[in-house]
Amino acid sequence: MSLIVQKYGGSSVADAEKVKRVARRVGKSHDQGNQVVVVVSAMGDTTDDLIALAHKITPDPDEREMDVLLSTGEIVSTTLMAMALRSMGYSAVSLTGGQAGIWTDETHRKARIVSVEAQRITSELETGKIVIVAGFQGVTRNMDVTTLGRGGSDTTAVALAIGLKADKCEIYTDVEGVYTADPRIVPVARRLKDIGYEEMLELATWGAKVMHPRAVELGQVYSMPILVASSFNENPGTLIHKGASMEVRNKVRGIAHDTDVAKITLVGIPDRPGIAASLFEPLSKAAISVDTIVQNAGLNNITDLTFTVSKSDLTKAMKIIEPVAKSIGASKCVSDSNLGKVSVVGTGMQNAPGYAARMFKALYEAGINIQLITTSEIRITCIVAQEDVKNAVIALHQAFELERA
Ligand code: ASP
Ligand code: MG
Repeated sequence: MSLIVQKYGGSSVADAEKVKRVARRVGKSHDQGNQVVVVVSAMGDTTDDLIALAHKITPDPDEREMDVLLSTGEIVSTTLMAMALRSMGYSAVSLTGGQAGIWTDETHRKARIVSVEAQRITSELETGKIVIVAGFQGVTRNMDVTTLGRGGSDTTAVALAIGLKADKCEIYTDVEGVYTADPRIVPVARRLKDIGYEEMLELATWGAKVMHPRAVELGQVYSMPILVASSFNENPGTLIHKGASMEVRNKVRGIAHDTDVAKITLVGIPDRPGIAASLFEPLSKAAISVDTIVQNAGLNNITDLTFTVSKSDLTKAMKIIEPVAKSIGASKCVSDSNLGKVSVVGTGMQNAPGYAARMFKALYEAGINIQLITTSEIRITCIVAQEDVKNAVIALHQAFELERA
């Protein structure tokens, strides 16, 4: 008998019919002799709707109240799933994150799981039940409800799989797995049979929406294999695991893109110690995460500095940066919010020359101007105009021949 954790995302449980369909799938896994723990997200756009509702009450909702509000979305899904299973003759029980033993720190809206105490789940499983757990939520030691950040149900599933020492962690979603690029942009994109944690983490962090980066990170730390597959059919999906094959011929594994990029440039700032700290400290205090940072080589003790943030943080970031820029004597501070980024990712790139050149050439031939470049050992990212992102993905997919297995 295997213990399986299955997670179903919001689009897979978007209405009553879909809940029943997922319940049939879950029931089937149980019929095959498995113990099944199901993690569900809120139905469809529920979380967005709840956020919008709160903002109709106040522009600045209290974060503790917000977490209780948002946690209800996932709870609705668990109860309906348990009802669907019971109506099909299974015994099933729904649990909130807290009841399931998901303990977190106190950071509302972005809480981190500190421990999983899964005795309740284990004892429910031992009585033959299918256990349905609300994703994306936990409780603090004071029994306050927290949420784990948008997309956090993936993290719940992986954390439970680790805590329960499950045999399998399966993430069911509305796409068929991890692709060499977004198949909506590149129709010839290939589904990957498997992929390593590190590559998946880079793809997810740099824009591939298929899995939440924190969940991948957690899987990596505990070596928990994660299957990503469609909830709408029986196709094999993609296995994220330690032993993913090295593609010898083609060392690029995939392309990620993201159109949520804004850039801020400070022109003519003094080139002396302490300047960068004075800019980035207040941003980090305001919980604005800065992505790419590029400082030009200084000339005559004057330099320029550019960095990127997500579009939703741009206004807040400018409000913080403008006065600092003035106080350090920058000649101007400008922003651009119509940007995007494309990244090529692959473990084989780190010791092989030529990948960067090939990337830049492909973009040049597609008539795309590169604004900023950043790299890690296994990734090269170019910031380009937002309107160029799609063409960049297509050009790179072709240049690295990713359609070929
Ligand atoms: N419902 C939450 C969200 O939309 C969590 C999740 O879907 O994983 O962000
Ligand atoms: Mg969701």
